[in-house]
Amino acid sequence: IFEYAPAPESRDVVDIKPSYGLFINGEFADGSGTPFKTINPATEEKLAEVATASSDDVDRAVQAARKAFGVWSALPGAERAKYLFRIARIIQERARELAVLESLDNGKPIRESRDVDVPLVAAHFFYYAGWADKLAYAGLGGTRPLGVAGQVIPWNFPLLMLAWKIAPALACGNTVVLKPAETTPLTALAFADICRQADLPPGVVNIVTGAGETGAAVVGHPDVNKVAFTGSTEVGRIIARAVAGTDKKLTLELGGKAANIVFEDAAVDQAVEGIVNGIFFNQGHVCCAGSRLLVQESVHEEVLESLRRRLSTLRLGDPLDKNTDIGAINSAEQLAKIRSLSDLGESEGAQRWSPACELPDKGFWFPPTVFTGVAQSHSIARDEIFGPVLSVLTFRTPAEAVEKANNTPYGLSAGIWTEKGSRILWMADRLRAGVVWANTFNKFDPASPFGGYKESGYGREGGLHGLEAYLDV
Ligand code: NAD
Repeated sequence: IFEYAPAPESRDVVDIKPSYGLFINGEFADGSGTPFKTINPATEEKLAEVATASSDDVDRAVQAARKAFGVWSALPGAERAKYLFRIARIIQERARELAVLESLDNGKPIRESRDVDVPLVAAHFFYYAGWADKLAYAGLGGTRPLGVAGQVIPWNFPLLMLAWKIAPALACGNTVVLKPAETTPLTALAFADICRQADLPPGVVNIVTGAGETGAAVVGHPDVNKVAFTGSTEVGRIIARAVAGTDKKLTLELGGKAANIVFEDAAVDQAVEGIVNGIFFNQGHVCCAGSRLLVQESVHEEVLESLRRRLSTLRLGDPLDKNTDIGAINSAEQLAKIRSLSDLGESEGAQRWSPACELPDKGFWFPPTVFTGVAQSHSIARDEIFGPVLSVLTFRTPAEAVEKANNTPYGLSAGIWTEKGSRILWMADRLRAGVVWANTFNKFDPASPFGGYKESGYGREGGLHGLEAYLDV
């Protein structure tokens, strides 16, 4: 069921309009705020003008969602499932267009948007479509949907984060008002068109575009019953404060600083692939990125040598080129942040290394970068960089690996590389991370819940647990 058109490398498969409106009550409408432009981060060319939703526009969207809630929540689960299955199938049919659009707006390599993002988006809708008429089997019979969900998402996986939010909400009978990130609104608007194509009743899905103020208007709207946020820990705190003292339910998916832990008995080639995938996938714009490599002292040199060799083969460049491994950084702002945190790493005494690679003249680019000689106190070992930057630390014993891995305010994910099954279980028990991968990294499945410990947030998305976030049990 996850098949799609091959080789979507041409820009011609997308028809980007000069300007886009908001999607409210099943119609595209003007926004009353000042429109903003969204650009291609690989070239800095303008892709389109996009409407900004004011608080009045957000209010219209919430009212539409409220009205639709009566109809949508009253449908039998099997009826809601039909719409979700239909949406999933249209996503597959339009996979090529969606992948190209995502790569243009975000800067990610087409191989990733085509082979990872879009298939996972379809898979999420299929998965939650399957649950819509089976809530009773999951022990959720007699539960109620919460009402109108206000959802705010980031720019790193624009369409996939939308799917994580919208699919379970709709399956449970909620209606939604979703705000995509201001640097990547286009696939959310393409999704709005897919809702129309699927004949989804008007108001069930509403998309309001704009920056942080629009997000704050969604979160703060008195008629929103549930807030779901994915983004930075900093904004997560603001949202938690805004929701405190109201009757809204809240789930937060925030930042991370994951440890990828390589033991001396690991298969080195396999571990190196996992390290590369862990931190350089999606230019490191991944909340669960393996941004701290913890490598056992006895194999430190061997692993690093092999890693450097592998990094020298990566290709950075045009996101629409099927051979590209590393695409563009999503925005000038994010590039500035990556640069300043990396410079800080150097000034704090860590050694910086990048493979020889030419950066294009136009657009936002940062080479894959490895820091060695990193101490736990260094900011590059503590702060989320959210870019293609790896900090390498060493350890001697499993207990020391656990201690170092857990020495972070975050707790979203971790990776373990070892041939010993007993050690995997021993480590997984002690790592304070929502996801622990063993001999793999960055593997996602709609059936598996995802979410953080500590300052990485609370609540789970995906799987059966993802349904509970949208129901009164
Ligand atoms: P961000 O927090 O700056 O923005 C996220 C979204 O919140 C955007 O849509 C933005 O417009 C909106 N926003 C900004 N201020 C707001 C406010 N005051 N009220 C309401 N909404 C507001 O994050 P970002 O830079 O877009 O994304 C990167 C961050 O997201 C990283 O920290 C990353 O780890 C995290 N992330 C987490 C997960 C996860 O599942 N845990 C997944 C992806 C990204």
